[in-house]
Amino acid sequence: MNSTMVADEYSKESFLWLFQSIWLRAMRGRPPRSIVADQDLPIKQALSRVFPGAHHRYSAWQIRETERVNLRPFPSEFEYEYEKCLYQTQTVVEFDSVWNTLVDKYGLRDNVWLREVYEHRENWMKEPVEEQCRRLYTLTVFRIFQNELVQSYNYLCLKTHEEGAVSRFWVRKESEKHAVTFSASNLSSSCSCQMFEHEGVLCRHILKVFNLLDVRELPSRYILHIWTKNTEFGFVRVVESVVSSRDLKALMVWSLREAASKYIEFGTSSLEKYKLAYEIMREGGKKLCCQR
Ligand SMILES: [Zn+2]
Repeated sequence: MNSTMVADEYSKESFLWLFQSIWLRAMRGRPPRSIVADQDLPIKQALSRVFPGAHHRYSAWQIRETERVNLRPFPSEFEYEYEKCLYQTQTVVEFDSVWNTLVDKYGLRDNVWLREVYEHRENWMKEPVEEQCRRLYTLTVFRIFQNELVQSYNYLCLKTHEEGAVSRFWVRKESEKHAVTFSASNLSSSCSCQMFEHEGVLCRHILKVFNLLDVRELPSRYILHIWTKNTEFGFVRVVESVVSSRDLKALMVWSLREAASKYIEFGTSSLEKYKLAYEIMREGGKKLCCQR
């Protein structure tokens, strides 16, 4: 089992205790092969004492947090293009080409943080599940999925029950606690937060369990093709292809979100386009509110 564990901000002593007593016991004495940890010294020291052989990786959460802080001074168009470059390019060649265009366009070749990002591009932790969704989802959906995945690292997971192929887990962070059921026979899973049922994207709790169980590819049932890149978000298709009213609601939210995201992209390409876009939206908004 390729286990990954996440460390939080505690002191070295509490980490030592946590790693030694809980983890090693849970793993029947077998240490994990890789560890996702923040770069804090106490965690690193405790980790290398308890798991001397494990390979340490940066946590995706930490990378996103650093990004958030460093992106703050840049204009939002830059942030959009930066994310597109990092999360939507498919090959190293494509990445390099998009990256170079980006730093030249904004005159950021000497920016220290961006240079570091570029130099560490090979070390980014690419979860297989994240890769799969990056390939399939549109950027808007992928961002939401990615946030769930990143958040999942902050949760602790405990198996509470097992009967045949069905296992039950508690997934918790502080006072937040959700029950996840997983069936190994058909790889189906459900969570008490019901995010998948309402929004069509797997929640952080199920992703946590998948991670623990080393499920490296999302079962196809969890990738609704209505959210994927190959789908046009057309109104007619939306209504025709949907069965339940709950699905319709979720689909309408997604359809509008996709349309709005494209609208913002085009509407901010110049000041003229922005003025036009704003005017159209204001007019449309009036119509929408008058409609009964
Ligand atoms: Zn959940």
